[in-house]
Amino acid sequence: MNATLGSGPEPTPEPVRHEPAAPAHVPVRQRLAELRGPAVAPHPLDARALAALAANPGCERRTLLDGAGVNKAVLAQALGSPAAFGQSQFAFMRGNAFEARVKSDGGTELLRLLGVEDPSGALTPDVSAAGPEGRTARTALALREATAAKAWTLLDHPMLALEVAGTPAYLEPDAVVVHPDGHWTAVEIKSFPMLDGSADAAKVGAAARQAAVYVLALERVAAKVAGAEVGHRVLLVCPKDFSNLPTGAVVDVRKQLSVTRRQLARMRRIEDLAAALPEGTTFDPSSRSAQELAAAVESVDAAYAPECLAACELAFHCRERSREAGAVETLGRSVRGELGGLTTVEAVLDAAEGRAGDPADPTVAALRRAAALRAEALGAAAGAGV
Ligand code: SF4
Repeated sequence: MNATLGSGPEPTPEPVRHEPAAPAHVPVRQRLAELRGPAVAPHPLDARALAALAANPGCERRTLLDGAGVNKAVLAQALGSPAAFGQSQFAFMRGNAFEARVKSDGGTELLRLLGVEDPSGALTPDVSAAGPEGRTARTALALREATAAKAWTLLDHPMLALEVAGTPAYLEPDAVVVHPDGHWTAVEIKSFPMLDGSADAAKVGAAARQAAVYVLALERVAAKVAGAEVGHRVLLVCPKDFSNLPTGAVVDVRKQLSVTRRQLARMRRIEDLAAALPEGTTFDPSSRSAQELAAAVESVDAAYAPECLAACELAFHCRERSREAGAVETLGRSVRGELGGLTTVEAVLDAAEGRAGDPADPTVAALRRAAALRAEALGAAAGAGV
């Protein structure tokens, strides 16, 4: 292994479906099918999307749409606000080609990056099975057997389940390695380069947030396996410098793990959100006009912030609505936090210019002081003929 990276703020694709498993959930499943359209298959949610969802737990709109398996890119298109968002086809293919290169020797190179001296003896159980539930069960069994075997084991594309807002999501990490001492390590393979042992902090951060989702899901499995322990340091594998050779770095995801755990716990249950919608609401573009879809989307509370532009397909639509409402959130979460109870740009201007607001309120006082300084600066500039 060549380096240890700290993690700043991105990721690989994996499938997730939303299918309540128990018979008691059947009505929820039907309701969610109505929301996305009875003939529409649930849009798979990958760990990157799950990490983005966890990053904005206050957005009930995204929670519901993702939980119902609505394809937000198609919905945004139907709303007339398509987002230039997501991984390009080229980047996707390059990522797949690099991952195939990393695993082309049966995983021995990958295990070497993890410090395994003789990877040729490692076990590589088959974790394929029919359907996500079958693959999840097969993965759990393979993890249990590998832990009991006390031998280096590489699971290629295992499948893990994680409950999100009351419904199971299925996640597929690039790999999981079981150490002889019962330690489990999640492996993330990315196609962005690692130059002289370091990589783009934003990309490493995003990969860390995604890996934290896998670690969380692995912990659910490990809790039922004697002697198993999930590592909070994951292996990030990237191309070395400008070559196609793989290199590895350990990334500590404890911080991302605690944030993701806390955020997912804060989400309202999808069935509660669905139950609060007006009768007949659907987000199916094939059966509703753009206006009807917009009304359906507006019926669920959103929590727009500029960060949505890099993380959610509905960002342009939500930004437009947020701007129309004059919401201060369009200026950023930090600005929103500074403005206390003033939630619209109009209210801020009224407070700053003395038309409204309690002068004893520190926020109002600060705004008036800023407005006075601005007027003074403009007056001085005008007096100087600038
Ligand atoms: S863009 Fe809209 S739906 Fe997506 S997370 Fe932001 S506020 Fe929520």
